[in-house]
Amino acid sequence: MKIFCVGLNYKEHIIEMKHNAFPENPVIFMKPPTALLKNGQPFYYPDFSKEVHYEGEIVLRVCKNGKKIDKKFAHKYYDAFTLGFDFTARDIQAVQKKNGWPWEIAKGFDGSAFIGDFVPFEKDKEIAFTIKKNNEIVQEGDTSMLIFSFDEIISYISQFFTLQQGDLIYTGTPKGVGPVQIGDKLEGIIDNKTIVTCEIK
Ligand code: MG
Repeated sequence: MKIFCVGLNYKEHIIEMKHNAFPENPVIFMKPPTALLKNGQPFYYPDFSKEVHYEGEIVLRVCKNGKKIDKKFAHKYYDAFTLGFDFTARDIQAVQKKNGWPWEIAKGFDGSAFIGDFVPFEKDKEIAFTIKKNNEIVQEGDTSMLIFSFDEIISYISQFFTLQQGDLIYTGTPKGVGPVQIGDKLEGIIDNKTIVTCEIK
């Protein structure tokens, strides 16, 4: 099982991160399978960071194997989605970025890929989601705001990596990312239904 993530896929998030250009292609990075945490499991604040951020994202589940997938067939390769948190050690990421070093230690550490319960896809239905921290809305996103669509992401990733059934794809975060502290509670909501809850311990 592989975990792919798309960076910089919402315009307003690119602006809040002070990037000066929008990407021409999806920005792809990966997390190892040991990063995965599922709904109901606690996220333990790592001791190597003083600035862990949540990034609420729609996460796709790949349902069949494929490589070099044409965009027009890409919809056949995912069948379910959920909301998840791409936890990021922002202080470490800043050092890595400044030096042009890889992101993995800031983005792929244990527990950094939190996922909720999967929901089957309804064809052509827009997905709108809300992220709450301690019961206050901090992020809102929907599929119309994506720079690269799910189909474009699937097609692009599969030019480089064979997609396999069970792989997960974090599709990017809208504006409103921010720090978490021990004791915080994050929730992800779609259609008034909470599909992910994460407590920071
Ligand atoms: Mg992210």
